[in-house]
Amino acid sequence: MVVKDKLKTLYQLQQVDLKLDGLLEERGDLPAEVEDLEKKITTLKSQVKENEDYLKKAVVRKKEIDKELDEVRKRIDKFTDMRIKVKTNREYDALSKQIDNSKEKLQDLHKELENIQAKEAVSSRDVEKLKVEFEEEEEVYSSKKVELEELVSLTHDEEKRYVKERDKYAQKIDRQTISRYEMIRKATKGKAIVPVVRRNACGGCYNVLPPQRLLDLRQMEKIFTCDHCGRILVPNEIVEETAHDV
Ligand SMILES: [Zn+2]
Repeated sequence: MVVKDKLKTLYQLQQVDLKLDGLLEERGDLPAEVEDLEKKITTLKSQVKENEDYLKKAVVRKKEIDKELDEVRKRIDKFTDMRIKVKTNREYDALSKQIDNSKEKLQDLHKELENIQAKEAVSSRDVEKLKVEFEEEEEVYSSKKVELEELVSLTHDEEKRYVKERDKYAQKIDRQTISRYEMIRKATKGKAIVPVVRRNACGGCYNVLPPQRLLDLRQMEKIFTCDHCGRILVPNEIVEETAHDV
């Protein structure tokens, strides 16, 4: 493809992209709002799950602790009984140590149980709060989503047509040029290709172009960009030739 045709096709591609931008603009902040709400709901859901998982684990651990407490108490009773019957001081001391250790274990278990109960209370309260918040957010999300879907459906056909048209132009141009175009478009948030405007200025940033650049442009042997804003420059004849196309 000669440079002139490439520039022309790129310019046509941009015309379609600008129309697509216009359609998206009509949707305003709604798509971003819906996305934010979606994230919020997902976070709330995982927070609820986290708390519920903890509560489940707490029930299991509490049962274990009950069992352990029972065992330790029995051990203390057993050692106490044995201590009454011992004959030597050494045996007596050994059992006393066992009893002390078991009592310590008993205390630890009680402490753990108290901790779990305190955390359970917080978690239960959090779950209730999070669930209410979740329901509220979900309601807002659902209605906003419907609103967005209705808005999208209004321009759905138009959008489809533009996307098809866009593909048609994009297919004609090499990938490297397309990605260059996309990059400039992203950076400038709008037009990547601009004509030369009054007083030989760049149509994007309005800086005056050097005379040599103007000559180069007219030759159309290469794609030139503006030194100031990086946009691709097209001679006015390209704009005029494509005016009736789109
Ligand atoms: Zn410029």
